[in-house]
Amino acid sequence: MPSIVYSYGKNLYINLTNKCPCSCSFCIRLGGDGVGSADSLWLEREPSAGDVVDELGRRSAEGFGELVFCGYGEPFCALNTMLDVCREIRRRWGSAIVRINTNGLGDLINDKPTAPLLRGLVDKVSISLNTYSAERYERICSPIYGAVAFPALLKFASDCKRHVPDVMLTVVDVLPPGDIEKCRAVAASIGVPLRVRGFS
Ligand code: SF4
Repeated sequence: MPSIVYSYGKNLYINLTNKCPCSCSFCIRLGGDGVGSADSLWLEREPSAGDVVDELGRRSAEGFGELVFCGYGEPFCALNTMLDVCREIRRRWGSAIVRINTNGLGDLINDKPTAPLLRGLVDKVSISLNTYSAERYERICSPIYGAVAFPALLKFASDCKRHVPDVMLTVVDVLPPGDIEKCRAVAASIGVPLRVRGFS
């Protein structure tokens, strides 16, 4: 049975969609069907906001550390559902910390600026930077948008600073130290902190 909500560590994760405009060479989806408490994150259909909120209620959402939009797809591919779920989280579990893990391409996916839509609904945005240049990003992540993807990612990250309290870019620690320093410089150039996370 595919999971729309699953636990991993102390957080609850929300799996809205299997759509994604990228085909990253390191995508976790290539390594198995599930993560954490989920046997499978391959959805038979995309859940409605009501489906997600009902499941969060069953899982006692207030008892978890963070509620994180992160599954086997890019959450900005289900933008309206995500925003509806966020509004309901604010209404039912006002103190919950809401985070989005994203590839940062929400503006291209939805053909409009998306960071302003997060204001008041989202506490944290974690954006996968992955590398330090548009050319390398295109090679590693194969975005359907081609060379405009990387600058769009950076613009989204910069925009988020004005609307979301906690914004970070991330890279994994398997990159060579020199590449990580270049990523750090890219992140610094737009005033967003870089987190180097373990590869799992
Ligand atoms: S952006 Fe995320 S979900 Fe999409 S292919 Fe890359 S790693 Fe996988």
